[in-house]
Amino acid sequence: MKPVLVSFAILVAIACRGDAQKGTSESNATKATKTSTGFSGAAAYNYAKAQFDFGPRVPGTPAAQRAGDWIIRQMRSRADTVVVQSFTYTTADGKKLQLRNILARFRPELKDRVLYLTHWDSRPIAESAATDAERKMPTPAANDGASGVGMFVALGDALKKKKPNVGVDLLFTDGEDYGQFGPPEVDVLIGAKYFATHLPSPDYHPLYGVLFDMIGDKDLRIPYEMISFQRAPEVVARVWQTAADLGYSDVFVEESGGEIIDDHVPLLDAGLHVIDVIDLTYPPHHTPQDTMDKISPRSLGIVGDVATALVTRE
Ligand SMILES: [Zn+2]
Repeated sequence: MKPVLVSFAILVAIACRGDAQKGTSESNATKATKTSTGFSGAAAYNYAKAQFDFGPRVPGTPAAQRAGDWIIRQMRSRADTVVVQSFTYTTADGKKLQLRNILARFRPELKDRVLYLTHWDSRPIAESAATDAERKMPTPAANDGASGVGMFVALGDALKKKKPNVGVDLLFTDGEDYGQFGPPEVDVLIGAKYFATHLPSPDYHPLYGVLFDMIGDKDLRIPYEMISFQRAPEVVARVWQTAADLGYSDVFVEESGGEIIDDHVPLLDAGLHVIDVIDLTYPPHHTPQDTMDKISPRSLGIVGDVATALVTRE
């Protein structure tokens, strides 16, 4: 994903929103590895590590094949239905990539649904690295890839134990981080774009959607992503209110994090109300230092708790 400039008008709008949700959190966040919803941050971390241990999940590599197979196996034992969207994508320079979106569905019979997504691929180049040699390496992608996968598998555990009160679709997108974010965008957000034009059914219209990206940082702080704030403000309000109710106002902060081009944009363009929950303030981003020691069970527990509460609370 890539940050773009935020307009002054939006910053003013946020500054004027007031302090209604502030000041109730303190200690809950420290307990988040074992949460009120039953979501386990420790389990999420272990699943993220399993994903990380396959090596860089760069599209077209044996590691990606194995890691994708692993996600499918994990979700088949947790979800009601797993749909794999396999497709061939031709890059701008003519390379053919075999990609897979993986859609794990809970209570697929329900019309009222919530869509969560996270990307499972990792970036072929670490362009933000310090040295030329490192910049040619793929990213190990603990936070920028494995964190969302780990959270989703642990969410599968939680939803298997306690059925959601709406249908839930967990979409693992491929090819998010492959090419250049530009402008112009080239060979990025590939799986999300494919999903936006190949929805599970012609009348598929979830109540709302949330993209989770880079949610494992030990030093987790999630401001508003401003494309989400502008185009699906009611979803932002719902997610931040749920976080506040759980005592996480110190993590889900009421500040602008700027505009970020990410997998939610193609879905917004397709008319789905999808927001991005992302902590882009992460020094190892797109470097070989994006490793498991930089992420924590506690952070995964906080975001997983919010994700679980959104679909299980009465
Ligand atoms: Zn990335």
